[in-house]
Amino acid sequence: STTLVSEMLEEVADRFSFQLQQRKIEIVIRVEKGVTNLLLDRDKIDQVLDNLVSNAIKYTGDEGAIRLEARKIEKDMLEISVQDNGIGIPRKDLTRIFERFYRVDKARSRNMGGTGLGLSIAREIVKAHGGTINLESELGQGTRVVFTLPIQQEEEDEL
Ligand code: ATP
Ligand code: MG
Repeated sequence: STTLVSEMLEEVADRFSFQLQQRKIEIVIRVEKGVTNLLLDRDKIDQVLDNLVSNAIKYTGDEGAIRLEARKIEKDMLEISVQDNGIGIPRKDLTRIFERFYRVDKARSRNMGGTGLGLSIAREIVKAHGGTINLESELGQGTRVVFTLPIQQEEEDEL
């Protein structure tokens, strides 16, 4: 069945509402007009979104801000991005960030929990859906992760 994109993003924010409130982190959701519903494996895409939002929260200071956006690119692709204004990732680590178990310097990650698997799993899921995932980051400025998904409409019954 199809998923309403705006609902899916609202629900990610809801799952993290306690942590967001505790840390006074604001979350802004923006869904471009014309983006409606999508045929996708909801459990898997939720897993991707949960990891990206949990990373954004972990690596953003109190009173930071997270932006969750969805928009249509090209003809049949949806682009979803998770952006934070947190601590960012050093340039030298960017090429390895999607590797299994890779975490940026253990000192800063030590207290955060996690195993370093989230991004590699997210990449596998997105690839399995026929999309791509990329991360841009500026140390001390923040991080933006962008992934794409093909827009598949529910099949018409052709009989
Ligand atoms: P897990 O997801 O398994 O709980 P994790 O969050 O450490 O553990 P990943 O999600 O794969 O693992 O992220 C890998 C590393 O990339 C993190 O340990 C962190 O150093 C860095 N990272 C990921 N997202 C961000 C972000 N939004 N801001 C700053 N650093 C990040
Ligand atoms: Mg993670």
